[in-house]
Amino acid sequence: MEHKFDFLVLGGGSAGYAAARTVHEHGGTVALVDGAEELGGLCILRGCMPSKTLIYSAEVLHLAKKGKVFGFEGEMPRANLAAMQARKKEVIREFAEYRKGQLEDGRFSLFRSKASFVNENSVILADGKQLTAQKILISTGSEVRVPGLPGLADVSYKTSDEVLNLDEIPVECVVLGGGVVACELAQFLSRVGSKVTLLQRSPRLLKEFPQAASDALQAAMIEEGIQLELGVDFKNFEQLDKEQIKVSYQHMGQEKQIVTTFLFLALGRVPSTKSLDLENADVELLASGHIKTNHFQQTTSPQIYAAGDCAGPHEIVHVAIRQGETVALHALGKKVKPMNYDCLLSVVFTDPQLAVVGLTPAQMKERGIEFSTASYSFDDHGKSILMEAKHGYVAVHAETKTGRVLGAECVGKDAGELIHSLSVAVGLEATIHDLLKADWYHPTLSEIWTYPIEDLAEEIPLLD
Ligand SMILES: Cc1cc2nc3c(=O)[nH]c(=O)nc-3n(C[C@H](O)[C@H](O)[C@H](O)COP(=O)(O)OP(=O)(O)OC[C@H]3O[C@@H](n4cnc5c(N)ncnc54)[C@H](O)[C@@H]3O)c2cc1C
Repeated sequence: MEHKFDFLVLGGGSAGYAAARTVHEHGGTVALVDGAEELGGLCILRGCMPSKTLIYSAEVLHLAKKGKVFGFEGEMPRANLAAMQARKKEVIREFAEYRKGQLEDGRFSLFRSKASFVNENSVILADGKQLTAQKILISTGSEVRVPGLPGLADVSYKTSDEVLNLDEIPVECVVLGGGVVACELAQFLSRVGSKVTLLQRSPRLLKEFPQAASDALQAAMIEEGIQLELGVDFKNFEQLDKEQIKVSYQHMGQEKQIVTTFLFLALGRVPSTKSLDLENADVELLASGHIKTNHFQQTTSPQIYAAGDCAGPHEIVHVAIRQGETVALHALGKKVKPMNYDCLLSVVFTDPQLAVVGLTPAQMKERGIEFSTASYSFDDHGKSILMEAKHGYVAVHAETKTGRVLGAECVGKDAGELIHSLSVAVGLEATIHDLLKADWYHPTLSEIWTYPIEDLAEEIPLLD
């Protein structure tokens, strides 16, 4: 039997739910297909929310261990990972139940199955049911990347899914990778008591972020006892016995080996598209494996859209949601702005946290924009000094001619919160002079922004 809808969503995570909700709000009939055993999507079940719950526990523990500095005495607290997990499960259960309720509340026809394309307007489900729609969104997310390194596929590595569900602290672990997930969870593992060695191919951690941000994080990680080996060339992976894995690599011209019982593979994710039979719908992929889209998220088959991790280019939740909403409005023929990443906000939940918004200096140079930058360090700021949170800095980039704020960087305690005042400025196209009209309370961490803003205001005259 064939079922017909205005809009069909494949995958009910952040992107798919945002699109389905928006189409429904405008009166379209929506079918949503999700093949997961548990509804909720990556962010709620295995991504942002579980990781940030555990990372926050580890941060509290880290502060408690520094108690002496703040004037406490007594026994050194230790992590009880099972108790941390119990708290995380409770938190996540609530989020997942809420999302499940949203998917099942009758606004959409929900099908619990994998789907694959029959043609440009139809998909087939596992039970043979065929769904047809005028417009289809692919929002099937991503999966862990297992690069074709010699022997890697044959060893018993762990992924972020397993790390986020650990009940026991591994005595030691080797982390492969230096991206966001690798850095966040390496620091988590170290803070709960594991002896962590991180092996990274690039010469620095978080290579997409500014060099100064990588430097600040690397210094903090080394200070906490994480062993960093950067610029390594992986040679071979071998399962020695049931428990032990040998990693052979080259580092600074030397052949090295490390044996571990806990190998955490964190070398990125790839779009989840294999099961979709995209060739039946003429949907093309980019070399990265992402689905090729235009700025309205239309694929090479214009009535089919893609959003979220399977489309890229930035695999983060607010981008997935905005892409989903853009798809919905475009598919309904409503006026909608194309996707644009000039105001992109990115946060890494390490300690210090890293947060950047807007254009980077490299992007501005590439576009021939003349800009001025001013920065200020947290080790010279009242509130961060009294909080013992001295790692990191803030920097503001403004167009030299107009004073318009084009980008900002923040590395430090709660940078992911602090960046939002500058994110508003970038989004609203405010100038540094506009920012000085606002009050900045003393003593706060946020107040640190006034130093670079005032420096730039002195350099860039107020336009009439
Ligand atoms: C450890 C970790 C931490 C993260 N932390 C953050 C963070 O702090 N902040 C942030 O912004 N981002 C974070 N992310 C990234 C973020 O989770 C993702 O960008 C986001 O969840 C992607 O949403 P999505 O809608 O594209 O995909 P998903 O939420 O993965 O949804 C895809 C859905 O499609 C379904 N599906 C797949 N194939 C099919 C098929 N053939 N048929 C039917 N259904 C199918 C799946 O079951 C799934 O429910 C993190 C990721 C990880 C792994």
